[in-house]
Formats: sequence, C-alpha cells, structure tokens
Amino acid sequence: MTSFESEIITTLEDIKTFFRLLAENGCQGFECSKESLDAIKNWGRKEGRVSETLEVIRTDLGDCRRCRLSEKRKNIVFGAGDPHARLMFVGEGPGYDEDQMGEPFVGAAGKLLSKIIEAINHKREQVYICNIIKCRPPGNRNPMADEIDVCFPFLKRQIASVKPDIICALGTFAAQTLLETKSPISKLRGCFFDYMGARVLPTYHPAYLLRNPNKKRDVWEDMKKLMKAMGA
Ligand code: URA
Repeated sequence: MTSFESEIITTLEDIKTFFRLLAENGCQGFECSKESLDAIKNWGRKEGRVSETLEVIRTDLGDCRRCRLSEKRKNIVFGAGDPHARLMFVGEGPGYDEDQMGEPFVGAAGKLLSKIIEAINHKREQVYICNIIKCRPPGNRNPMADEIDVCFPFLKRQIASVKPDIICALGTFAAQTLLETKSPISKLRGCFFDYMGARVLPTYHPAYLLRNPNKKRDVWEDMKKLMKAMGA
C-alpha cells in the first residue's frame, strides 16, 4: 500500500469516527436541500445573508406596550424607506409631527433632512429612515435607559434586515447609542465606525442645525465623506 492510499484510509476512518460521534450525540442526518446548500455557499457574503423582513419585525413589534412611552404615544414610528437601502439614517426618536403621522422625520427637522438627502443626490424613498426609539417621549424629553433597552433590539433587527452599507447617525443620542460611547457628537462627527457590518458616520442632528445654522458647513463636509464612501 502506498503512503497516499494509507492516508486516504486514515482520513476515511476519521470521517467514520466523526459521523459515529454525531450519531451517538443524536444527529439523525443532514439537511441538504438546495436552499440550505445555497445559504452555506453564501455565508459571509453580504448579498447572500438570509435575514428576516421588515414586515416580520413590524409584526413582532405589534401594538407595543413594552415601555411607558406606549401610554402617551399616538403612533408607533417604525421607520420608512427602501427596505434594501444602502444608506440608513438613524435619529433620536419621534417628535410631535412624527407621532401624529406615524412617519419618521416629517416635521421641521425632517424637512431639513430631506434637503440634506437631496443634496447628496438621493431621494427619501431610496434611503431608510428610522430612530433609536419608536415612540415619542412626552414633551420630547430624552429617552430613558430602560426605554432604549426594550426598543433598541428592534432597531438592530431592522439594521440586520436592511443591511445598509452606511448608517448616518443623526445627533448625539443616535451616535452615542449605536456606538456605545459617551464621546460628544463634536468629537464623533465626520469619523467612520464599524457597526453590524455597516460603516457608521455620525453627524449633527437636523434639529440642532435649525438652532445652529453655522454648523451646516460641518454637516456638508460629513456628507461629502459619506458620498465618497458610497462611491458617488
Ligand atoms: N427627530 C428625530 O430624532 N427623529 C424624528 O423622527 C424626528 C425628529
């Protein structure tokens, strides 16, 4: 017997031992459907990743009563836009107008966000827009830690579903929550960070720009970086 042949016999014995071990531990066989084999072939490839749809996530959220914000809200603001967008915007949470309409960024800050989106040669329908929390805090107060804790997992699932290349975090709250940092937005803005397979670019919140128009120049610099990163 050649050494090559004996190597093959040893390998086959190893495989047999491996299968016996699996059988002893309850394995009854292998699922070899085309779907499963395709899923395995595409592991690690962005376009091949199997994920739940936004509809499934929305259904799971239901008429959410997981935190106190449900008591005073009119509408849950889930998110809007292209479910396969390459670019996602994440804000803080719904304000009065968003609560009334059930849509993110439809008030004054939303109008400015629309202009920013147009300035980077996109339409609102081409991007996905959502928030860290989905219900309006009374009086637009900051969301509390326990409110974020129950809501954030849904946003993570939305990110996993949309699989954006870039997430633009709007303002302190979105940036600090996504990046789990306490650094100020002035330090974070304009820098890229990795998060869930996407690149996160924090910038100032449009509502902050309405109060501080001189900061629009900084946001434009950030948007130029964003367009470059998107290959535009
Ligand atoms: N501000 C936000 O952070 N999100 C909205 O949807 C509206 C205003």
